[in-house]
Amino acid sequence: MPERSVPVYYLLSIIMTELLCTECGAKYSPSSPIWKCECGGLLDVEHSEFFKIRDLADRDCNMWRYREAIPVDADSNIISLDEGFTPLTKLQINNREVYFKQEHLFPTGSFKDRGASVLLSKVKELEIGKIVEDSSGNAGAAVAAYAASAGVECKIFVPEYTGEAKLAQIKLYGAELMRVSGSREDTAAAALVAAEESYYAGHSWNPFFLHGTKTFAYEIAEQLGWSAPDALVLPVGNGTLLLGAYIGFSELQNHGITERMPKLVGVQAERCAPLYKSFREGSDVTDYYNAKKTIAEGVTVANPVRARQILDAVRTTGGFFATVTEEEITESLKKMLKTGYLIEPTAAVAVAGTTKYLSQHHEDELIVSVFTGHGLKAAGKIHKLVKEEI
Ligand SMILES: *Cc1c(COP(=O)(O)O)cnc(C)c1O
Ligand SMILES: [Zn+2]
Repeated sequence: MPERSVPVYYLLSIIMTELLCTECGAKYSPSSPIWKCECGGLLDVEHSEFFKIRDLADRDCNMWRYREAIPVDADSNIISLDEGFTPLTKLQINNREVYFKQEHLFPTGSFKDRGASVLLSKVKELEIGKIVEDSSGNAGAAVAAYAASAGVECKIFVPEYTGEAKLAQIKLYGAELMRVSGSREDTAAAALVAAEESYYAGHSWNPFFLHGTKTFAYEIAEQLGWSAPDALVLPVGNGTLLLGAYIGFSELQNHGITERMPKLVGVQAERCAPLYKSFREGSDVTDYYNAKKTIAEGVTVANPVRARQILDAVRTTGGFFATVTEEEITESLKKMLKTGYLIEPTAAVAVAGTTKYLSQHHEDELIVSVFTGHGLKAAGKIHKLVKEEI
């Protein structure tokens, strides 16, 4: 190994967390209660501290085992339901081995708990008592649960098409539920108006959410013996899982823990595929997209706020986007049921995408995909979809 000289400023560096505008480069203190830049730009969190592998052995098996890497200052502010470290399970898909991370096994039934745990911890740290969020269902349920745990009042805006079980779930945690007619974008717009009077905790805008979802990458790396897979096949709506994975694997590589980035493969429903379209056209943003209704309600996002970052992450890793039809999603749901896994239709998008990926790519690749949400959230709908055959 060649000897590396360590710059003096690095040795002297202190823990730094900053909010950085992705448009104008303005910097803000992490103690400012803002969710976007004065210029209107999206914010990212820059955080310099990282965990050491040797410290992990004695820690709890939850996502907070990577404590140093999570940008929350005081331990006393952590809002946790002991979430994370979900199983990474090897399954056979068309006679090929694929790992699926069982993110449907979170306290609220989806991976959104990763983001909600960090987001609500930050909300507590900022001493904010009231928040607003908009969601197609699962992020709303996650934020509502962690807000309940934090003792924070919350108002959740959802589109009218959100499934009954998810609506009930949000209300059961004590959140105020606002149903908005029209598209997912109309819902976001209504939430932004309400946010003028309280803190906007929208998971697609709020950068702290991504520093929760990034623990998805740490766990995969740890479960694979501190290595990165060749490809990561993920469903994409607002891209909070994909961007979290990108941030997490980038950090692991920057800290010399893993040697490469996995190829990020984003899967969208054919009936709502703005990122797929922009990727194909070589564009770095999404434009107007006429979304049609799909059974994959969790990825029905016609204009993702972080489109530029998502497209950039997929291109940088040598990945691509794929689409799946309603029939392919339903087939994948049925296939998983026959294996004993009840996942929600949106989660089946990743299974369908993985099936497609396998037919086009190298035999020896190590592929990781995900079950993003639990089927009990949509049991009635799933039953209607598959009952003829079961
Ligand atoms: C939110 C969600 C997705 C999509 O995640 P994004 O962060 O919006 O890309 C996929 N599946 C389920 C079950 C979800 O709840
Ligand atoms: Zn700015």
